[in-house]
Amino acid sequence: MVTQCLFNKMFEITKKSKKDKSRLGKISTNHGDFQTPIFMPPGTQATVKAVGPDDLAKIGIEILLVNTLHLSLQPGENLIYDLGGVHSFMGWSRPILSDSGGFQAWSFSKNRTKNGKKMAKIREDGIEFSSPIDGSKHLITPEKSIEIQHKLGVDIIMAFDECTPDNDDREYAKKAMERTHQWAQRSLKKHQELSKVYLEKGKKPPLIFGIIQGGIFEDLRKESAKFITSLDFDGIALGGETIGYNMPRTLEIIDYLQDLLPEDKPRYTMGLGSSAQDIIEVVKRGIDMFDCVAPTRMARHGSLYTEQGNLRISNNCFEKDNNPIDKNCDCYTCQNFSRAYLHHLYSVKESLYLRLATIHNLRFMMNLIQRLRKEI
Ligand SMILES: [Zn+2]
Repeated sequence: MVTQCLFNKMFEITKKSKKDKSRLGKISTNHGDFQTPIFMPPGTQATVKAVGPDDLAKIGIEILLVNTLHLSLQPGENLIYDLGGVHSFMGWSRPILSDSGGFQAWSFSKNRTKNGKKMAKIREDGIEFSSPIDGSKHLITPEKSIEIQHKLGVDIIMAFDECTPDNDDREYAKKAMERTHQWAQRSLKKHQELSKVYLEKGKKPPLIFGIIQGGIFEDLRKESAKFITSLDFDGIALGGETIGYNMPRTLEIIDYLQDLLPEDKPRYTMGLGSSAQDIIEVVKRGIDMFDCVAPTRMARHGSLYTEQGNLRISNNCFEKDNNPIDKNCDCYTCQNFSRAYLHHLYSVKESLYLRLATIHNLRFMMNLIQRLRKEI
């Protein structure tokens, strides 16, 4: 595609580590630049649960994720488009990445409706699913996914893919990979078609990333990496249930794909980042981007990150503890509130607890990212 050569380089490696494969980089988007390595918090319903855009900016969040399928079902991409796009809809002016909806539709396929029917069916042309809101039937195809993501007006869109489960069904993983490859080509074609409008106006179209599948199988992962990197994507993602969920396997996959991943494109491990150690391990291996629901979800469920490990705020030992969650943390919560106060808010189920806890866990992740960047 001719798009990127018309504009400044979208991805630039600014420094490479001398001791491992980690690298510092910068990605330029229509809503500003952000640095890599980067942790991106998921804002599924066009909101990072319990915190507002002002909180996110203070925490130092540089880019967040929204969910294509959820937003398409409610309030609908057309409404968001008519209201000026997802940035203005949610009051966030920095970069946004949208997932393709493939993971969500796949996760529906594991659930059943009240009638015992599977909530989603994978077809060759896309994924048919029942809405979790009202049971209505929908078909999401690669073209539809790309169209929705363009309408949302995000900065980075993802090719439509089929997520592969973390199991040893090789035949299924191969079929899902082949579908993902076909869908990647169709996604790219649709994206290029929709990008013309931007180019005619002298504007930069969103960036598009392709997704490598192949389950837990080395030959399939390598085949998928070769195929996806041969296409004209702006960035390369590693997808599948295994990534981030099964860390020993994730690291193995990254290691054997190392030589197949182009140096000059950002690398994104999808759904990875439930602990500091997971992030440290993949950054060492040259991964630039990651997202995970764990830091915010764990915060809401009473698990707070500290340098010494997670702290369970419901524990009675915090009832009279006047210390901050983490004495080394510079977040709003740690600067102003004690463990005793958070323990109290959590015990009486006050909504302020959710905000304060989320601020802390996200800031903990961003402080980790800052430290890793400095060490490169
Ligand atoms: Zn804190």
